[in-house]
Amino acid sequence: MTSAPAQPTLFEGSKRLVYDDAIELTLQSMQAYGPAHDHWGIAWSGGKDSTATLTLILHLLDTGRLQRPKTLSVFYADTRQELLPLAISAEAIMRQMADRGVNCEVVRAPLDKRFLVYILGRGVPPPNNNTLRWCTRQIKVDPMTQALADRLDELDGSILMITGVRQGESAIRDGRIAMSCGKDGAECGQGWYQEVLPHASGIRGRIATLAPILHWRVCNVWDWLRIYAPMAEYGGWSTTAIADAYGGDEAEEVNARTGCNGCPLASKDKALDAVIASPHWSYLAPLKRLKPIYRELRKPQNRLRKAGVERLKGGGIAANPQRMGPLTFDARLWALAEILSVQAEINTAAATLARPEIDILNAEEEARIRELIASGTWPHGWDGDEPTADTPMDTVYADGSVQPLFL
Ligand code: SF4
Repeated sequence: MTSAPAQPTLFEGSKRLVYDDAIELTLQSMQAYGPAHDHWGIAWSGGKDSTATLTLILHLLDTGRLQRPKTLSVFYADTRQELLPLAISAEAIMRQMADRGVNCEVVRAPLDKRFLVYILGRGVPPPNNNTLRWCTRQIKVDPMTQALADRLDELDGSILMITGVRQGESAIRDGRIAMSCGKDGAECGQGWYQEVLPHASGIRGRIATLAPILHWRVCNVWDWLRIYAPMAEYGGWSTTAIADAYGGDEAEEVNARTGCNGCPLASKDKALDAVIASPHWSYLAPLKRLKPIYRELRKPQNRLRKAGVERLKGGGIAANPQRMGPLTFDARLWALAEILSVQAEINTAAATLARPEIDILNAEEEARIRELIASGTWPHGWDGDEPTADTPMDTVYADGSVQPLFL
C-alpha cells in the first residue's frame, strides 16, 4: 500500500479545508455550470478518474462549497468484467453513498447484450480495434443512455451529466476531448459518455455534460484518492484500494487504461499485470488467459464466412464479400468451458486464501449462453449454414467478379 507524503499539500493541519489549484478550478467550473441545472447525474465507471470526480463532488456538496441541485443521481456502469479491486472499491463506495442517502443506480446491459453472453450465446466475435468495435457502446453507453432516459422521464427539465474525462493540461490548450477507449491511462467509456450521450436519441436536448476534472494531472487524481478522500474531513471515502488496480506504489509510473478484464482492444493487460504483481491479488493470474481466448476465437477456423456473392435485400451486392462472421457453436462451447475454468480456478484459490472471489460469468449468464446455443442462435444476417472461414473457396471481389479456386 502506498504511504502518504509527509506534507500534504491540500490540508493545512487545521480544521479548515484547503484545496489546491486543480480542485479550485473544478469548484469554479461546478459553480459556474451547476446552478443552471436542477438535476445532476454522475456517470461513474469505478476507475480512478470518475471515482475522484464522484467523491470530490459529494464532498463539496457535503461541506456546502457547492449548492445542492434538486436531485443528484449517480449511475454506476457495471460491465460485469471489471477488475476485481475496482469492483470491490465501487461496492464499498456504494455502501457509503447509501448511508448518506445518495441515490446510486447500477447500470448494466440487458442479459443478452452483456459482453460474454453476446459473444458466446449470440456468436458475435470479440471486439477489435478495426471492424468490430461494438463493446463500449453496447455494454456501457447504451445502458447509460437508457438509464438516463428513464430518469429523465421522472424529472422536469434537463440534467447535467458529470463525467470523469481527464486530459491534463494539454486538453485545455487544444480543447479536444478524445474518446477515452483509445487512450492509455483512461477509463473506457468516459469520453464516450461526454461525446455520445448528449446526442443520443430519446435524451437529445435534455442533457448537458461537464468534465470538471478535465484539467487534472494524474498526480492530482492520486493525491485526492490516496490522501485526501480517505480522510474524515474530506469524506472518509474507501478510495485507497483503487491504487491497487493501477499498480499501488508504482501507480504514477504505470499508465494503465482500465476497463474489462482481458480487454481485446488493449494491446497489453497493463492494469491486470499491475494487479497480479501485488501478492494480495496474485491469485487472479488466470485472468491472463482471457485475452488469448478472445484472440483464438477470432481465428478463421472458429468462425463462419459468407461464400460466393452476397446478395443484399435491395438487390445490390455486399461491399465486403466473403466477410468472416460469427463464432461456430464448437468455438463458443470451448470458450465457455475455458472461461468457466479460469473463474473456478481463481475462486478455488480465493477460498483457500480467504480472498474475494470473481464473478465474470454467473449461473444466469451461463444458462442463457447454453440456451442460445441450444436454440441455434446466430447474429442477424447469418443462418449457420455458411462454411467455416478456413474453408478454401472461390475469391469474390467487391464488384461481384469471381476468381475460381484452383486446386
Ligand atoms: S474495456 Fe475493452 S472490452 Fe471493455 S468495453 Fe472498453 S474497449 Fe470494450
